[in-house]
Amino acid sequence: APVQADWPALLRDVADFPRPGILFKDITPLLADAHGFAAAIATLAAPWRAAPPHAVVGIESRGFILGAALAQALGVGFVPVRKPGKLPGPTLALDYALEYGSDRLEMHVDALPAGAPVLLVDDVLATGGTLQAAVALLQQQGAHVVAASVLIELSALSARQRWDAQVPLLAGLVI
Ligand code: 5GP
Repeated sequence: APVQADWPALLRDVADFPRPGILFKDITPLLADAHGFAAAIATLAAPWRAAPPHAVVGIESRGFILGAALAQALGVGFVPVRKPGKLPGPTLALDYALEYGSDRLEMHVDALPAGAPVLLVDDVLATGGTLQAAVALLQQQGAHVVAASVLIELSALSARQRWDAQVPLLAGLVI
């Protein structure tokens, strides 16, 4: 039966986090609510139930929480994309520019078979820089990114207007 919880109502706005002037969407009240969490995962899983990907790939850290639950819901494995220096085996890395400075994402070189169809997941799409970097890292690795899926798209930042149209961008909620 479909899960009916109004999961967007469980998101919380936190002003001036992590810096002054930023209105942060906090997903922890949603995660703490069993029905809300299940409803959010059901929303992300719905397009893939008939033909699940080979694996769900989640971006550290909140992408792990959603991605692991989504992988279980779809009956497929989970692959982590991590911050530098966290993965124990040989990795492939990609550096990407931030508003100030740069950052790096890493994944295990042997995490996915060549050409594997994968669904990339993160919690929030803001500028899109993180998600776009993860797509590029997966493509470098030879994976086929069937879509990038976020729970929440912050439309004010216009990431969708800059999005690489080769990979569908899905959002559970656009605000
Ligand atoms: P972007 O690279 O799109 O600018 O930022 C997206 C990354 O920053 C995501 O990994 C996401 O977890 C985090 N992020 C940015 N803004 C928010 C926010 O308001 N709430 C949450 N939960 N994460 C955010």
